[in-house]
Amino acid sequence: MKRIAVLTSGGDAPGMNAAIRAVVRSGYYHGLEVYGVYRGYTGLIQGDIEKMELGTVGDIIHRGGTVLYSSRCEEFKTEAGRQKAVEQLKKHQIDGLVVIGGDGSFQGAKKLTALGFPTIGVPGTIDNDIPATDFTIGFDTAVNTVVECIDKIRDTATSHERTYIVEVMGRDAGDIALWAGLADGAESILIPEAPYQIDEIVERLQRSSERGKKHSIIIVAEGVGSGLDVADKITDRLGWETRVTVLGHVQRGGSPTAFDRVLASRMGAKAVELLLSGQRDMMVAIRNNDVIGIDFDEALSQKHQPRMELYDLAKILSI
Ligand code: ATP
Repeated sequence: MKRIAVLTSGGDAPGMNAAIRAVVRSGYYHGLEVYGVYRGYTGLIQGDIEKMELGTVGDIIHRGGTVLYSSRCEEFKTEAGRQKAVEQLKKHQIDGLVVIGGDGSFQGAKKLTALGFPTIGVPGTIDNDIPATDFTIGFDTAVNTVVECIDKIRDTATSHERTYIVEVMGRDAGDIALWAGLADGAESILIPEAPYQIDEIVERLQRSSERGKKHSIIIVAEGVGSGLDVADKITDRLGWETRVTVLGHVQRGGSPTAFDRVLASRMGAKAVELLLSGQRDMMVAIRNNDVIGIDFDEALSQKHQPRMELYDLAKILSI
């Protein structure tokens, strides 16, 4: 193997740049040439591929987003689109590819390997919804961003003695809501993996109010539904004034935390090692603090589940 390429695909996540840097720098350390593919699979199909040097990835470890840009590419979902991508890789004499992205990007990467092209996935998504790994790059930063926002909301909630409903990202996975909710001492955390009962939420609010608590925070993962709906239900039941904040894309941005930078550095370097050791069809994962490779087949056949013991703990602690 002489020449490898790296791309970022799907939703961007803080720490993707640190992962790109790790692929490039460890690639050169091992005597490889490293190419960057711009705009994910779209750029791969179009041949938007450029050589990266050691200096190309200087001063990016601390930046959010991705210097290679990202995209969602419908054409790559077709056999013809993927054939074009392989032709471009061959034209640029690239022997192996590192795909930094989420589960959708890995579905695409797996199909590239089926065409005989060695590909390694690095999990980069704020959602933490890739089953085979304990953490994905970007998740820790997103949780910290949410916590910082909720701390500010808490200040005003306390001053005005109100109930705040905060809607956070997580269409299919409740991890951001769960971790941020636990870190912030939220009264209730609503996640897609656990159907909620409005009666239980109302009872909790009443219990807190009876013990003299004058403000409450409820976190709703977007996959559960709208924070506004939850707020309306609470107002209907209790007659309390509520406020809703939808955090939105602020959760995707920002400088990656030290945890995400270290995770991305370890994972990017591991992807290069896997390619060099002849692996052709794997994703990188962290399990029990070990960075390892897992076959795409095994990884993609599992279903993601957040750590439900955290959900139970949050309930105990917000009694
Ligand atoms: P995130 O969930 O964080 O946004 P993701 O990688 O899951 O990241 P997707 O939009 O699901 O984001 O996928 C990114 C791209 O991967 C798609 O636009 C498409 O090009 C490719 N892709 C997704 N699913 C498939 C599939 N089943 N087959 C081939 N390619 C796919």
